[in-house]
Amino acid sequence: MTEFHHRITATDGAARAGTLHTAHGDVPTPAFMPVGTAGTVKAMTADAVRATGAAIVLGNTYHLMLRPGAERIAQLGGLHRFMDWPGPILTDSGGFQIMSLAKLRKLDADGVTFQSHLDGSTHRLTPARSVEIQHQLDATITMVLDECTPFPATPDDAFASMQLSMRWAQQSREAFRPRDGYGLFGIVQGSIYPELRAESVRTLVGIGFDGYAIGGLAIGEGQATTFAVLDATVPHLPADAPRYLMGVGTPDDIVGAVQRGIDMFDCVIPTRAGRTARAYTSRGVFNLRNARFADDAAPLDDVCACPACTRHSRAYLHHLFKAEEMLGPMLLTWHNVQYYQDLMRGLRSAITDRRLDAYASAARAGWAQEEPS
Ligand SMILES: [Zn+2]
Repeated sequence: MTEFHHRITATDGAARAGTLHTAHGDVPTPAFMPVGTAGTVKAMTADAVRATGAAIVLGNTYHLMLRPGAERIAQLGGLHRFMDWPGPILTDSGGFQIMSLAKLRKLDADGVTFQSHLDGSTHRLTPARSVEIQHQLDATITMVLDECTPFPATPDDAFASMQLSMRWAQQSREAFRPRDGYGLFGIVQGSIYPELRAESVRTLVGIGFDGYAIGGLAIGEGQATTFAVLDATVPHLPADAPRYLMGVGTPDDIVGAVQRGIDMFDCVIPTRAGRTARAYTSRGVFNLRNARFADDAAPLDDVCACPACTRHSRAYLHHLFKAEEMLGPMLLTWHNVQYYQDLMRGLRSAITDRRLDAYASAARAGWAQEEPS
């Protein structure tokens, strides 16, 4: 029996390092979760994802409920077995992707009705149904259904949207069936307004969750606003519970958020960039399609231990993308996921050694060596 529990072992300023204990294993925090949209981290085997040091991955309820279906995954032994990932899995609620991907979506007080982007079939998601689907998937961490308040929003619209999300959080809590080592996270909304964020936190803490996510950010407001919202929100959150900033971000975003007390992240950036020839490295962002790499025999990043960097040259990676070989996206995705995991490992040890600010300054100086191309 494993109790779902976040143990903080070190702090440096607002930043924390620790371990999240779950039914499916431990997650060192701060942690980055590679996104396994449709039961796969795109272009990587599960072994490759594990080899980068990733301890937890994210699955998308919207994609999995439509194809292959949550009931089918349950009959096949759950998402862990289905995708060969025995470790912890966090699933989102499906709400965000319905609003960004589905056709003819209609939100009402009780849930959202939408048409599949795959075949036009009609589906309905309520807080209880989302929690039930995540249970069928056997998610280690279940997320409440919420409305990601669009940006920008007026204070009145942001308040109404946040109130809806808080009702749905209560309904999600009532639908959740607690199991040892499994957790349910609430999601703080309130747009860019500090009073609304604080009220959202108070409501969620009153309901009681195993962790708290901050939603409604990284949707166009810009990094300075994201950080301002974190500064206004994080101090209200319970110190012992894990804090998850949804959908963030670039390495620079992650470092700034860790310095503000965030423990968990997810983002499609490393995997999506890998498929489009963009590499995140200790020297900044490289576009491997650029002709200046055609004769470059150097490794992509000489401090990285991934196969793209230890076995190949920038010239070879450039060639793979020019020739549209699928190994190019595979190698660059592996590298980017490795780079993000190395960054998290560096942040964790810097917090433990109480030298986070120096680590962050050195990382930013490194990224500035390469102009984005
Ligand atoms: Zn690499």
